[in-house]
Formats: sequence, C-alpha cells, structure tokens
Amino acid sequence: MNDCRVIAIANQKGGVGKTTTTVALGAAIAELGHRVLLIDADPQGSLSISLGLRNPDSLEYTLSDVINATIEDETIPYYQGIIDLPEDVDLMPSNIELSGMENKLLNVMNREKILKTYVDQERKYYDFILIDSMPSLGMLTVNALAAADEVIIPTQPNLLSSKGLNLLLQSVGKVKRFLNPELLIGGILLTMADSRTNNARAVESALREGIGKSIRIYDSVIPFSVRAAECPNEGVSILTYDPNGKVAEAYRNLATEVIEDEQVENKDRPRDHSAR
Ligand code: ATP
Ligand code: MG
Repeated sequence: MNDCRVIAIANQKGGVGKTTTTVALGAAIAELGHRVLLIDADPQGSLSISLGLRNPDSLEYTLSDVINATIEDETIPYYQGIIDLPEDVDLMPSNIELSGMENKLLNVMNREKILKTYVDQERKYYDFILIDSMPSLGMLTVNALAAADEVIIPTQPNLLSSKGLNLLLQSVGKVKRFLNPELLIGGILLTMADSRTNNARAVESALREGIGKSIRIYDSVIPFSVRAAECPNEGVSILTYDPNGKVAEAYRNLATEVIEDEQVENKDRPRDHSAR
C-alpha cells in the first residue's frame, strides 16, 4: 500500500457542507502540490455539478459503471471515466444511475466493499482520494466508509446538527467493528458558522468541551459566506471563485491541518472512542 490517504466526507444529515468541503478541501490539497482524486458517491451528482459538469446524466461513464464492472469482476483501466479538471483535481463523476446501485448492492457478495475494490486500485496514482457521500447511512455511504482510511464529518454548529452526530458516530463504530478496523475519525469540521451569533459560538464551545474531548474538532472553522453559497453555480471551488475570501482561507487552513495530521502517522494513538 502506498501513502495515499482516502478520506470519506460523511454525515447523514443533509446540507451540512459535505460537497462544498470535498470540492474546496480537494482543491486546497491540490494547490499544495498533491495529486487528488474526488469521487462523487451521491446519486444527486452535486459534486459533479459543482465542478462544472452541467449535465452529469449525459455522461457515458460514471461511478455506477465502475460499481457494475466491479460487481461483474471486470477489469477497469485506472483512468476510465476520470475527468481531469482545471483546478488540478481529478473527478470520478456520478449521476442519477447511481441511485439504482443502492438496491443492486444489497444482493451482491462482499457488498460493502465494492467501492473499496475500485479505490484501492486508484491509490497508486494519487496522494489523496476524497469521497463525497450522500445524506443517508445506506449502502453507498457504508461503502465509502469501508473504502476510507479516515472520515471527516462536516456539521453546522447548531443544536440539531450536533445531536445528529451520535447516529453517524454509531455507524462509524459499526463499520470499524465489522468492516474496516483501521478507519479513523479525522475530525469534525464546523461549517457555515456565523460567528456573529451567540448561538453558533455557544454550540461550538459546547462541542469542543463535550465531544471534542474524545474526538478531534478541527481548529479551522468554515465561516458562512454568500460567496460560498454562490459557488456551485460557477463550476469551480471557492479557492478559484473567491480566492482571498475567508472561506477559501479556512479551507486552506483545513488542508494544512489534514495534511499534517499526526493521527495518521501515529495510528497507535486513537483519539476517537467510536469503536465502543
Ligand atoms: P447534501 O446532504 O444535500 O449532499 P451537503 O452536505 O453536501 O448537502 P453542500 O451541498 O455542500 O452540503 O452545502 C449545502 C448548501 O450550503 C449549498 O447550497 C452550499 O452552496 C451552501 N454552503 C456550503 N458551505 C457554505 C458556507 N460556508 N457558507 C454559505 N453557504 C454554504
Ligand atoms: Mg452533497
């Protein structure tokens, strides 16, 4: 196995910034000179659309073809279907066809590790592989967690979002126990934080004082910004769309935190207790 790090970006709660984080963190890591592959594991195709593919449904080869081929035990050339994007990141796109895979996988042998088979094949060509997952804990998300070395959990600093974290942590714990004992929680990432509100600040301190004692919460907090909300329409990451803005800066800082992560270098020091 080479040094490639595979990171799933996951949270079953919708709209917490998973796709935005995949795009921006991927671009920020690529900016530092690393080879990056982004995998769109959401049938909504939001990652593909955010990266400028206006009509993913017309694509000839997507992640659902990869999954089909893997199920059929067919060899896939490592570059098949991968799109080389201007911001120095590669993309394995998705479209609505992926929604049929959730059910198809249910009846397949080794069903939780189909994506892992593909990801492991791609490891030797990349330094980082980031997987954007869908807002559910279904078979595709389990496949993403089973394929990953680490999971980053974006969450908004509000009460309901933070309550939903436990469900995800339980799933991560189950994946660790039954499928992928090496899976680490890279960290919880606070997104769309409006630091002007007392509520966001209070929830952030409560999280840091509570769950933050056992699970790392990144120092980098992604602020709320209208520019970030506009970004998916532009087909580029926030690093290109608003390079000097506070969101781009926060994602650059996050990239540094992720790259320097000592957890990964020292796997004997698990900082999360999710494998209870
Ligand atoms: P889903 O669960 O549907 O896949 P998601 O978790 O991937 O959603 P995103 O699509 O990244 O979430 O973000 C949800 C919405 O919030 C999008 O419209 C996005 O443009 C916007 N958004 C993301 N980050 C920010 C930010 N820092 N400031 C303002 N808006 C943001
Ligand atoms: Mg998304």
